[in-house]
Amino acid sequence: MKIRKLLLSVIIVLLAIGGAISCKRHTSKKLQEKEESQIIYRICDSCQDVFAGEDPTCPECGQEQCPEVLEEMNRLLTGLWDYAESMRVQDRPYGYFRWSRSAYDEYSTMASYMALNGYNLLSRLGYPPPLSQNQLEEWRETAESWYNPETGLIEDSLPLKRLGISGSEYESIFLLYTQRWLTILRTAGVPGDFVVPKNLIQKYDVFADVDQARAWLDSMKNVPNPWGWGSHAARNLSRHQKILADQGREDGVLDFVHQWIDENQNPETGLWGPPETPLHDAVAGHFKIVKGMYLIYGWPIHYIERTIDSALRLQDSTGSFGPGPCENFDALYSLYVLKRETDYRSDDIDRAAALNALEVLRYWHEDESGFSFNRDSALLTVGGWPQLMPEGINEADIYSMAHWPMAVVYMRAILLGEDPEPKPDAR
Ligand SMILES: [Zn+2]
Repeated sequence: MKIRKLLLSVIIVLLAIGGAISCKRHTSKKLQEKEESQIIYRICDSCQDVFAGEDPTCPECGQEQCPEVLEEMNRLLTGLWDYAESMRVQDRPYGYFRWSRSAYDEYSTMASYMALNGYNLLSRLGYPPPLSQNQLEEWRETAESWYNPETGLIEDSLPLKRLGISGSEYESIFLLYTQRWLTILRTAGVPGDFVVPKNLIQKYDVFADVDQARAWLDSMKNVPNPWGWGSHAARNLSRHQKILADQGREDGVLDFVHQWIDENQNPETGLWGPPETPLHDAVAGHFKIVKGMYLIYGWPIHYIERTIDSALRLQDSTGSFGPGPCENFDALYSLYVLKRETDYRSDDIDRAAALNALEVLRYWHEDESGFSFNRDSALLTVGGWPQLMPEGINEADIYSMAHWPMAVVYMRAILLGEDPEPKPDAR
């Protein structure tokens, strides 16, 4: 059961990334001023700490030539596409990717989807991978060859059915996945021309009216996983709003969901979930709910200062915001969004972002292999999951290649005042 939950979480994160990457970059006057006045943070690999200053010598231990955090980020992003290429199936048309170099599956459509997300992200960050227009066109043709006109879906060889995920749940996951493929192909400049059937989209409209939306949200009230239900709620609402837009009508669902989510935020912590919710899940929930709803629909964000306190309280002395990649990336996102709203503890937020570089750039990345999603244990190899890590430990994988740079995006946003995902009213 636990594995199944984990697997679903991974798939949901995976699908969420496409939306994030399509946002436009926005450089403001504020950024130019900021770049001139910014504090330089450096990593000391000897102390395992981060310090501020022009002088590259660590004030604690005397280690010389400590690199700047931002330069380290640039260095890692520059070499990132090489890792993606090492996971590509070389003797097929462009677009076939494996989960990792030694993955058992010959290829996976989801690995290809992740790689294209990574391509879009690196392009947006100013590190465009060296792909020709022909290669991109070939990639689109590859994706289209996976589209099944009978089901209206692009599927994957993932053994979801063996894990008990089948029927409508299975169909719903791949419906979202197929829609996301269209989004990321468009972002890459090679729009696909397959169509997701409208009746299939309507079949999974969980928020079809206010009563249905209320019943669903109320059933989540005491679930100590706001990250999980937050992502489902965002997906449900987005699907419903698209249906309304297609039909050219409006109803009260959007306003109702807005009110419900506002009312269920805890004013003392700025977070969602019952008291027993682990702090890292609650902060991750803030990320999902704010990113997936507040910023999409332009709702004002509340309890900003208390939320900043909560997110900063989560970080430990090693820079970590939680046990896995997601918790770190999610907390950085929330801090970026909140810092945009206020000057409250902004120096603490900068320092926290710089300190998290120890976790992201050192712990989750190795120069020889790139970013990995897993450290020191054989995660996700049970039950036939496509074996992200067949050798058990620390192998770079395509998922992380596309995922970890997001953490770098938000670190840069915090430290440089960049605004990679502007608020709706600023777009
Ligand atoms: Zn030191």
